[in-house]
Amino acid sequence: MKNIVILGATGSIGTNTLDIIQRFPDQFQILGLTAKSSDEKLESLIKAFRPKVVALQDEVAAMALAQRLSKTKVEVLSGENGILAVAQLSEADLVISAIVGAAGLLPTLSAIRAKKTVAVANKEPLVMAGEIIKKEAAFNGVSILPIDSEHSAIFQVLNGERHQDIQRIILTASGGPLLRLSNDEKTQISPEVALAHPNWKMGPKISIDSATLMNKGLEIIEAKWLFDLPAGKIDVVIHPESIVHSMVEFIDRSVVAQLGLPDMRTPISYVLHYPERIPLSLPSLDLAEVGTLTFEKPDTKAFPLLTTAYAALEGGGSLPAVLNAANEEAVKAFLDKRIHFGTITKVIQQTLEAHRPNAIKTLDDVLEADRWARIEGKRWIKKDTNS
Ligand code: NDP
Ligand code: MG
Repeated sequence: MKNIVILGATGSIGTNTLDIIQRFPDQFQILGLTAKSSDEKLESLIKAFRPKVVALQDEVAAMALAQRLSKTKVEVLSGENGILAVAQLSEADLVISAIVGAAGLLPTLSAIRAKKTVAVANKEPLVMAGEIIKKEAAFNGVSILPIDSEHSAIFQVLNGERHQDIQRIILTASGGPLLRLSNDEKTQISPEVALAHPNWKMGPKISIDSATLMNKGLEIIEAKWLFDLPAGKIDVVIHPESIVHSMVEFIDRSVVAQLGLPDMRTPISYVLHYPERIPLSLPSLDLAEVGTLTFEKPDTKAFPLLTTAYAALEGGGSLPAVLNAANEEAVKAFLDKRIHFGTITKVIQQTLEAHRPNAIKTLDDVLEADRWARIEGKRWIKKDTNS
């Protein structure tokens, strides 16, 4: 029996993980669950999965939940410290890191420091602090297993291969819901349209990141740290069908890909059972029915953030943390209808331009870059709102 903790249990990755877990009650036990403020959703998960401990970041929501659960044995923790406590529960065998954004950085690091195997969906901490996370994982002797579909594909393809035999990796990108729109058409797009991803059902933040292609920008940085590869060995190709999840080209020019229907439950089940596979009763990929798989070069004029992300990766230091924080602020402002879609790119680029890059040696350096970029990003957002 594996004891599982899910950070971000009420989200898209969290509930997909629970969907797999409830299919194998004799293999997995839910030990801890966390969320931000969705107390009712968390309560229904508590009823279904009987965790020992839960935490809500929002103190008021946690108090209300604790009151409703006062006659049960479930411990309800609150605030950031509550989430950190769940991330390091001593009986946990595997921690699923599925909080969205920078808020997942400290919980992910806490789980690693508590010597837990961590399965990472939450890519932003790797973007901000990849080097620190990798060092902590090595120091504590723990594995980081990727959930992101592209990185899971590469992880599966690299199983048994030698690192020096990798020529390059090729991340596929669907192109999101706005792939065929002109820049002018995109500028006025509403959050509702930008949220409607053609192939994947995901949380709001990553859905907007997919529409700007920033998600692929974050993923190239995620790939650098997960697979220890320089920017020059990480390519991106647009593949609107989302069937080929990513590929590796080896030095003998053999290209190996991982394919499947777009369903996060497959990469999630891979980390839950790694290194074994288990039978999942999900629809089979029928290539004859899909018919055509297409690939195209990313249009960097239409999606400039991919180039911006490559530059941040190559520049290194504080740049990826600044890129990430400015993006988080811009996406939030767009979802709140404070800025236009086209302004997301402007906010990120202006924030990066205003930044004097510095080296990242400690976690404090990361947090300082994140803090600075949010203030600077908000300044550009405000300027745009007033203009
Ligand atoms: P969702 O928005 O659906 O869920 C986010 C989860 O994190 C919720 O449980 C939410 O709680 C919790 N949360 C949000 N903010 C905080 C906070 N400040 N402190 C503590 N908990 C918080 O996101 P997704 O599941 O879509 O994405 C999660 C991560 O996985 C992201 O980093 C994303 O990039 C990555 N990912 C997602 C994929 C997908 O298919 N969805 C695919 C690949 C990667 P509450 O419900 O209370 O708000
Ligand atoms: Mg992905």
